[in-house]
Amino acid sequence: MKMIESHLQEHRIFLPPSEFSSVAAVRGMDAYHALCEEAERDYEGFWARHAHELLHWHKPFTKVLDESNAPFYTWFEDGELNASYNCLDRNLQNGNADKVAIVFEADDGTVTRFTYRELHARVCRFANGLKTRGIKKGDRVVIYMPMSVECVVAMQACARLGATHSVVFGGFSAKSLHERITDVGAVALITADEQMRGGKALSLKAIADDALALGGCEAVENVIVYCRTGGNVGWTEGRDHWMQDLCANQPDTCEAEPVSAEHPLFVLYTSGSTGKPKGVQHSTGGYLLWARMTMKWTFDIKPDDIFWCTADIGWVTGHTYIAYGPLAAGATQVLFEGIPTYPDAGRFWDMIARHKVNIFYTAPTAIRALIKAAEADENIHPKQYDLSSLRLLGTAGEPINPEAWMWYHTNVGGGRCPVADTFWQTETGGHMIAPLPGATSLVPGSCTLPLPGIMAAIVDETGQEVPHGNGGILVIKRPWPSMIRTIWGDPARFKKSYFPEELGGKLYLAGDGSIRDKDTAYFTIMGRIDDVLNVSGHRMGTMEIESALVSNPLVAEAAVVGRPDDTTGEAICAFVVLKRARPEGDESHRIAAELRSWVGREIGPIAKPKEIRFGDNLPKTRSGKIMRRLLRSLAKGEHITQDISTLENPGILEQLSQS
Ligand code: AMP
Repeated sequence: MKMIESHLQEHRIFLPPSEFSSVAAVRGMDAYHALCEEAERDYEGFWARHAHELLHWHKPFTKVLDESNAPFYTWFEDGELNASYNCLDRNLQNGNADKVAIVFEADDGTVTRFTYRELHARVCRFANGLKTRGIKKGDRVVIYMPMSVECVVAMQACARLGATHSVVFGGFSAKSLHERITDVGAVALITADEQMRGGKALSLKAIADDALALGGCEAVENVIVYCRTGGNVGWTEGRDHWMQDLCANQPDTCEAEPVSAEHPLFVLYTSGSTGKPKGVQHSTGGYLLWARMTMKWTFDIKPDDIFWCTADIGWVTGHTYIAYGPLAAGATQVLFEGIPTYPDAGRFWDMIARHKVNIFYTAPTAIRALIKAAEADENIHPKQYDLSSLRLLGTAGEPINPEAWMWYHTNVGGGRCPVADTFWQTETGGHMIAPLPGATSLVPGSCTLPLPGIMAAIVDETGQEVPHGNGGILVIKRPWPSMIRTIWGDPARFKKSYFPEELGGKLYLAGDGSIRDKDTAYFTIMGRIDDVLNVSGHRMGTMEIESALVSNPLVAEAAVVGRPDDTTGEAICAFVVLKRARPEGDESHRIAAELRSWVGREIGPIAKPKEIRFGDNLPKTRSGKIMRRLLRSLAKGEHITQDISTLENPGILEQLSQS
């Protein structure tokens, strides 16, 4: 197999602002290298030091890393702690009791503030309520809720009791919910009557009822319902309970149950592009350490910061950077119920201005959509809002195209805020490759360097490291504390998916293609390995061609896939969303020709798309990732028969199916 080629060159570089570096947690590259060297020198000692410094242990650990049953690694195994205790009780003890933990903004703009004291009391009352329903350590509880403080309360209450939660994103269908409930073996389901998004009430309880009616869910003896809207719901007496009733008259303290560091804090299902969803199992100790550590390193969190992560709590980003990381760090965070385009596409900027957000963390898909909206309507352009409170920006979830990065840096960050492009996965628990904003110089489109203690490398298909400048497969060479422990109920699949024998069985396979820069050693992610194109024997990542397209001033978003071609093996088919209305007829041919030449000039003739189709949008998962497998079918002219329950906007398939 020839390795992945890279043709796109990026020469822009942004140094960390000196006023940022001088007060950052990691000041300058010398400090970064010192941490990396410490980890190289004494790997276990490095992690043990941070675990002692950052977490409260009910019982200190004596062992750090156990590799005897690789790849089923364990960390701090004989130590005991409680995640909820670390997130809440510790803040009551260290002077944060009256500090605002969560600023909740509802879909309709209503704002409610919760101090650490109030949050702690709510979590304790709910944990006590769960106890009355017999929920205990070791049980699995599925949470299917809207973006709400109650969802954080539910997760924290489970953690407090030592019950393992499995949050299912509120946009999933009854079938997807059912699959997850049965796979994880849940004994209880926590949901809401309805959720509010973009001014509309959408049912949750009705979907939950449908899921439970599909059979095989007999173990779910309790359904607990948070009353969000007061909308009509079906009710099964004895099984269903209002969350509010369960909490009424409960004491507002509840002893946190110490659990082993390896106790599963949660199982989170990744949709995966094919096959059955994988239940990614995370630990308590290693996971929480990394959530806390990355709040310090990547986000450089300060006591007075207002932090806002816009991810849904149903995804790992919402777990680590809403439900656990900010609370463990004693931070104040904004939690938003709604969507970025309601009442208009200036909502994020308006909220940043009103809440004086200092650190803003969002996804490239949101940025690209907001660029398109801002360019179409001056009134909702970020320059219309006072964004001067911002000091740091972040992105995650997908590669960010250099032009989108530049727009974000210039228009949202005012050219003064570092942009942390954070590469990580559900399986990694927290950031893996990301700049440290007070140390790392930034290059648009690159997630830069691994965090200290993360041994990332790029290898060929036999597991041999490739020289910098050559594209290949991204791997992590040593276990790290917050890594996936197993796939729930399927250890064989865990081993095969993440530690494949083809690579020697010891390297963690992230599944992404990547390249390191010859001079800086910076990593750039080139897309999922499954998406790599092979055109006339040239293996190319989808990302480069997409970025070349997005760098054209007309283009808002692009996705590229291959389709079989008699001459070239694979031909490139690009699906493009313009910043203006979708072109038709002659105009579409003219713009397509212009874009083909543009890509030819930017990358080279080999990367010119054979076909370009225009759409109003692209098919995306509900977490905003482009579903290239569906686009591959469309490019081949196939009728879509695959499961599209994770698709946000099914209507778009019809439009894009026409060539
Ligand atoms: P998930 O587990 O759903 O969070 O998806 C993880 C995948 O998202 C990774 O394997 C990458 O393909 C992609 N991803 C996440 N963050 C980034 C990033 N900063 N740059 C490039 N790709 C990313």
